This record gives sequence, C-alpha cells and structure tokens, in this order.
Amino acid sequence: MTPANLKLFRRHESTCTGDGKTIDPQTGKPRPYKKEFRIYEEDAIKRKRRRSVVDCSCTIYAEGTVYKKGVKLYVRPKSTATRKWEDARKVRENWIAWGGAQAPVEHVNPADELVTVPNAVQKFLTTKKNQPGVGDERLADVKRLVELRLIPFAESKRITFIQEMDNADVWAVFRDSWKNLNPLHNRKPKPGEAVPDTALGQNTVSKHVGTLREFIRFCVSREWLADNWASAEHGMKVSKVIEPKEPFSHQELEYIYKATESKTDGHGFKVKRTGQQNAWEVLVFIWTLRYTGLRISDVVQLATRQLVPFDAYGYSHALWCHPMKTKEHREVNFVHIPIQAANLPGHPNLVKALQGLPVKQGRYFFLGGEGTLRTNISSWRSRVNDVFRLAETIMERDGLPIRNGTHFAEHPHPHKFRHTFAATLLQVGVPLRIVAQYLGDTEETVRKHYAKFCKAEQLEAAAVLAEGMRKLTQVQTAEQRGSLHVVR
Ligand SMILES: [Zn+2]
Repeated sequence: MTPANLKLFRRHESTCTGDGKTIDPQTGKPRPYKKEFRIYEEDAIKRKRRRSVVDCSCTIYAEGTVYKKGVKLYVRPKSTATRKWEDARKVRENWIAWGGAQAPVEHVNPADELVTVPNAVQKFLTTKKNQPGVGDERLADVKRLVELRLIPFAESKRITFIQEMDNADVWAVFRDSWKNLNPLHNRKPKPGEAVPDTALGQNTVSKHVGTLREFIRFCVSREWLADNWASAEHGMKVSKVIEPKEPFSHQELEYIYKATESKTDGHGFKVKRTGQQNAWEVLVFIWTLRYTGLRISDVVQLATRQLVPFDAYGYSHALWCHPMKTKEHREVNFVHIPIQAANLPGHPNLVKALQGLPVKQGRYFFLGGEGTLRTNISSWRSRVNDVFRLAETIMERDGLPIRNGTHFAEHPHPHKFRHTFAATLLQVGVPLRIVAQYLGDTEETVRKHYAKFCKAEQLEAAAVLAEGMRKLTQVQTAEQRGSLHVVR
C-alpha cells in the first residue's frame, strides 16, 4: 500500500497582499497573489537561507490521497481552516488517520472538552519545563505570571474555563490588573504603614506580555483559544525602556561598609572549623564587587589563583578574570582588573584583604563547600541584602530621609556595585572602551546604560562641537563678505 499523500498549500483570499513588496502601479497597493498561485509547504521553508516565495497568511488547503480501510480515496482541495503551517500539519495528520476530512463518529475532538484555567496553566508549565533552554529562573518568571496573576485573576472574574477567555477584552483587562506584588521588597510593613499600590515596572510588564503571548500561543495550539489575543494587532503593545543605571553614592557606600560591622561571626563547631568570619568576609566580598565590577556569580567563584602579580603604575596585583554575560553566551574576554593594595589612599587594601581570607575548598575566596554553586550564589546574595537592611537601620537611626520606602536613593541591589564601578570610572574620564572591557559588555551596552557618566566621551564631543561651531562662524563670515561684495 502506498502511503497517503496530502499536500498542503495556500489558497489566496481577496485580502491577500502577496509578498507585501510588489506594488501594483495602478492601485498603488501591494499586489495580491492570484488564487491559482499556490504556495506549498516546502516553498515557505527556508532553503539556502532564502525562501523560494514570501509567505502570506491566507487559509491553508489540502489536496491529495488518503486511505480509508485500505481503499485509496481522493481528497479535493479542502480548507483546513488554519493559517499556520504548524496547525495545518496537525489537521493533515488527523485526516490521514481518519481516511478523509470527515472525523469518524467515535472521534472526540479534544478541543471540545472544556479545560479549567488552572489545568491549562499546569499543562503549559509542564511543556515549558521540558523545553530545552528553559532554566529555573525563567520558569520562576513564567510561574509568577500564570500562577500568581492569571489564576487569581480568573477566580476574581468567576472564569472557570480557559475557553471563556476567547476574546481580546478579557486579556486587556488582565494586563491592566498587574500591580507590583512586592512593593516593599520583602520587607514587612511597619505598624500602621499602608502597603503602597505601585504599578509594575515597564520592563517587567514587557517581560510578562512576552510570557503571556507564549501561553496564549500554547492555548491556540491546543485549540482552546482561537487567536493570540495578547498580540500587538489586538492592541496589546509593549514598550521597553532603558533605565539608566545609577551608582551608590559615596555616603551610601560608607553606610553599607559600616553595616557589615554589625554582622556577627556566629558560634559553634562549624565556625571554629572553617574559620568563618561573617562580618569581615562580607565586607571583603562587597569591596570586591565594588572594585572589580564583576557580577555576584563571578565573585563567588573567584579562585585564589586568579589573584596574580601585576606590576604597573603603583599596582602590585590584578584579578585575572573572565567576566561573562551568561553561561550560554560565553565569549572569550579575559582581562586583568588591577586592584589596589596600599597604593591608593582612601580606598581599602583589597589585595591584603583577599590574601588574608581563609581559603575555601583549597582554592576559593568565597565559595564554600556546602551546597551547589547556585545555592552558594543565592546565599551570598542574601548576605549582601542583609547588609543593605542593616544599613537602612543605621540610616534610620541617623535620621536620613526616606524615599520610595528606602533610605537609599533607590532600592539597593547587589548588582548596583557593578553600576557603581562602571559609573565612577566613567565619571573620572576612563574611556568607554576600557570600562566595557572590564565589564565584559559591549561599548554599546555601556553607553546605553551609563551615557550621562561618560565624561571622556562628553569632553570629546564638546571639543568636536566647539571646533564645528568655530568653523561655522568662519563660513558665515565668509558668506557675509561674499554678499557684501555683490552689493558693492
Ligand atoms: Zn495569500
């Protein structure tokens, strides 16, 4: 028996705009594809990096032969009622299995079954979990949207089934319902303090909309929903803003350093055995963040052998580093970051401090032997966050003003040490290229985030501008002289 052969192709509608590029000279509009011009599945697949035709979104039809109980049948061109190749392929699979475009009587269409919102969410999460490249953090982000926002939203609107959400309005209302769920940043409200009603940050919104689109796409593929109601064409737009990175002020740094003193060293056998020095270790850790600009994960993994002699301009040591964006995008970027010993008065002797730390696991400054790397990183992160809280207490005691629920200029975060490193270097005129090298970022990224601190660039720009303006005056004077000449 020869296998069934059902070919998929697009049959163009009157609204078809063809490839969108060919303009009809008479109407001035994109020229549609003719009805008889078939775009087959293979035509739409990229070959040699190019498609043989530019695809459109007209309805996909199927034509060919299938077998019903061993008997060959011909299927005339018939609409699959889908517009995406992926969906059409599923329909084709069904038709081949059924032996025609008509479902057998015993067939139950899974799309006809009502699915509760929590059920849809659970199925989506299972798929996400098994998707390659989806890490724990991404999964946590996805959960925050579908579990902490979508399910409660559906409950509040008395929506039971996902099929009840098959329109653009409900998703627009859902999106507008997003509030900052943690406006106090894990802090308990003080007695009498009202939890502020803060809007969600732009970038979080755009991340959530991206996730929402994935979720709805999943629902569409399961035929629970008819269209991606969170798409831009249904009015859900997102704008990503680049937030300039602000450094810690000098005063804030002083408070942070001071706060480490109130950390205790702990007691017990483990402390004795490992020589744990909470206060001092945390301070050195924070200094390292501030004076290298390395990410917290890179500092946690710093090995003692990375502290190398570096004899130049008063420096004696440097950290031989490999700052990187993520594990997946490892780019070769080794760099020596010189760190101060006693050569820079007014700054802590970081070399001596690092050398004086008890070596962990025989080779690390900060990476303890217990738990995975991930747990080590998150425990260091919470140690630094503890210090911020302690600093808040001291600032409170000193009567510093409170803004946005914090005594800091903005909510403190361990990553701000990196911003501080970058901003302070740029402020004193270190060229962008060099800062980018230390950070392991592109110059473009650095310029985007720290534009106002780029002193060297600003001065260079000012010089060019002044020169240009001088020339302009010369040209204008010459022109005036010319016009006077004509009058004379
Ligand atoms: Zn078309």
